[in-house]
Amino acid sequence: MASIALVPGSFDPVTLGHIDIIERAARHFDTLIVAVIRNPQKTASLFTLEERQELLGECLAHLPNIRIEFFKGLLVEFAKDHGASAIVKGLRAVSDFEYELQMAQMNQRLSGIDTFFVSTSPQYSFLSSSLVKEVARFGGDVSSMVPEVVQRRLGDRFSEDT
Ligand code: ADP
Repeated sequence: MASIALVPGSFDPVTLGHIDIIERAARHFDTLIVAVIRNPQKTASLFTLEERQELLGECLAHLPNIRIEFFKGLLVEFAKDHGASAIVKGLRAVSDFEYELQMAQMNQRLSGIDTFFVSTSPQYSFLSSSLVKEVARFGGDVSSMVPEVVQRRLGDRFSEDT
C-alpha cells in the first residue's frame, strides 16, 4: 500500500526550515501532502491561503511526490479523508517539544495516526515564519532564511505598507 503522510503548517510564508523538513521527509513516503492550515491561533496571516499555496508550489516543484492542499477542521479527519497514515512535524527546539508531543498523543488517541518528528538542521533551528516576517517588515536581510521568490514577495508586501 502506498504510504501517504501529511505535513501540516501555516506556511505564512514557507521558509528554508520548512523546505528542509519536507525534502527530507519526502524520501521516506510515497506521497507527502503539505496541508496548509488556517490556524485559529494565527488569525492575522500575511499571505492568503492561495498565495501560500502558490509559493509552496514554486519552492517544492523539484519534488515529484508532493501535493499541496488546504485544510480546515480536525487534522485527523483530513488525514483519514486523504488516506494518510502519518503526520510529519519539524522539531526546532525543546520549546516545540511539549506542545508537539501533546498534539501527537491527542491525534494518536483520536485516530491511531502516528506523528513522526524530523529534527531541524542546525542552521535553521532559530527560524520561524513569524520571525522572518518581523525581520522583513523592518527591512532586514532574510535571504539566508527563505527562497528567493519568498524574499521578493515579502519585499513587495512590506513596500506596499509604507
Ligand atoms: P512557523 O512556526 O514557522 O509559523 P508553521 O506553523 O508553518 O511554522 O509550522 C509547520 C511545521 O514546520 C511545524 O511542524 C514546525 O515545527 C515546522 N517548522 C517550522 N520552521 C521550522 C524549522 N526552521 N525547522 C524545522 N521545522 C520547522
